[in-house]
Amino acid sequence: MHNVRTRIAPSPTGDPHVGTAYIALFNRCFAKQHGGEFILRIEDTDQARSTEKSEQDILAALRWLGLSWNEGPDVGGQFGPYRQSERSELYQEQIKHLLETGHAFHCFCSAQRLTELRNQQMAEKAPVGYDGHCLGLSQSEIADRLAAGEEHVIRMRVPSEGDCQFHDMLRGDISIAWQQVDMQVLMKSDGLPTYHFANVVDDHFMQISHVIRGEEWINSTPKHLLLYQYFGWEAPNYCHMPLLRNPDKSKLSKRKNPTSINYYRDMGYLPEALVNYLGMMGWTMPDGREMFSVQEMTEHFDLMRVSLGGPVFDVEKLDWLNGKYIRETLSDEAFMQQFAQWAFQPEKMQRIVPLIRDRIERFSDISPLAGFFLSGLPEITEHSFVHKQLSNEQMCKSLQLTLWQLENSRAFDRDTIEQHCVALAAHLDMKIRDFLFPLFVAVTGKPVSTSVIDAISIIGLDVTRARLRHAITILGGVSKKQAKALEKEFQDFQQSGD
Ligand code: GLU
Repeated sequence: MHNVRTRIAPSPTGDPHVGTAYIALFNRCFAKQHGGEFILRIEDTDQARSTEKSEQDILAALRWLGLSWNEGPDVGGQFGPYRQSERSELYQEQIKHLLETGHAFHCFCSAQRLTELRNQQMAEKAPVGYDGHCLGLSQSEIADRLAAGEEHVIRMRVPSEGDCQFHDMLRGDISIAWQQVDMQVLMKSDGLPTYHFANVVDDHFMQISHVIRGEEWINSTPKHLLLYQYFGWEAPNYCHMPLLRNPDKSKLSKRKNPTSINYYRDMGYLPEALVNYLGMMGWTMPDGREMFSVQEMTEHFDLMRVSLGGPVFDVEKLDWLNGKYIRETLSDEAFMQQFAQWAFQPEKMQRIVPLIRDRIERFSDISPLAGFFLSGLPEITEHSFVHKQLSNEQMCKSLQLTLWQLENSRAFDRDTIEQHCVALAAHLDMKIRDFLFPLFVAVTGKPVSTSVIDAISIIGLDVTRARLRHAITILGGVSKKQAKALEKEFQDFQQSGD
């Protein structure tokens, strides 16, 4: 095998997802086992959704898990830059080649035409996709429309007949009819590439030998292979890993399970335990042992032993493993050190101290007052929520709307959170004091405590989400029907605020 080079290619559009770490782990093991390189590339072509903060969080989370990379935006390397937003020239050059050879074409269709086309195809139960409307434009017409500055995209040609056949390292031969493959947009009207185009160009120029990624990309592989063919480049080997699942076997989602690596860090899991657990997703050590390090996993790694049955990411199993790590791998000394590091992070403490210093007389008052900063889910029952005016249903509703609003909010500073609360309380026609009551209980465990708004900002979205969901469950939960009505109400609320 020539030089093995694998990569992880996260899009910096949200929290660092455990699924990203899982794919990174398997890519890293495979590369290291073959004496190769593991690369980190940032796929930030979606300018509207990509953020610097998300990129930093993803890098920090992978580093925390010990999943280091040989080349990447932070460490450099000879195939850089490793951020797609810094590689625009390369994509421009490459698209020219596809246009010249007739493998790609300009498309001037309006959004309205495309929507109508789609609706019509759906009504006819026909495959949904571009109909080739702009394929027949003459060179001179194209030149005129471009000269007039008409908005356009660039699409790839796709055969109308036959099948695309390819080999997947885990799944064997796969065949997908070209009819099911859309004439994918390669360059958007803003001049930036789409994922499909940039991904192929970069994998080629970064000399990636094996693409190990989630199974949700299988249907995109024909487009990618076709691009390799158009360019006359050798395609990498493909391996589509099974997706992580919730215990009910649905695709892992933050509505059912915490998916952000930051949640596990903030709740006090050990990185060694989390990464070990991710290694158990669809894979076992040859001798069946359940505790192993990334190093040990690499030594015994065999990609062919990944099983395709959807691996279940079960937090209870992770808790068990984490407990075992704490008991069996930490000396008292290490325990003390790691606990202190986790509990007294200077950045967090700097924000907590001003909230509590004026409210205490002795240090021993701190734990009863502010112990909730260190706990996971507060110990609360339905009794904790007893209130003169508010019904459980009302409280469920306000907590659910608050959660959605926090999830939608990009900023998480105390002032923004306060604004959201004030606006929501007004929308629900509640006094702010009443509105904050269930929030206090859910987040701090008590009806009165240090400012709950500051607390949410310090605790962060991941742990706050877990606490709000816990409270909603205690209060009787939100039925599917209620959730539908609430979603509608939430949309109305958001529109009224725009
Ligand atoms: N940017 C894609 C993602 O976020 C990468 C998919 C791939 O590995 O090709 O999942």
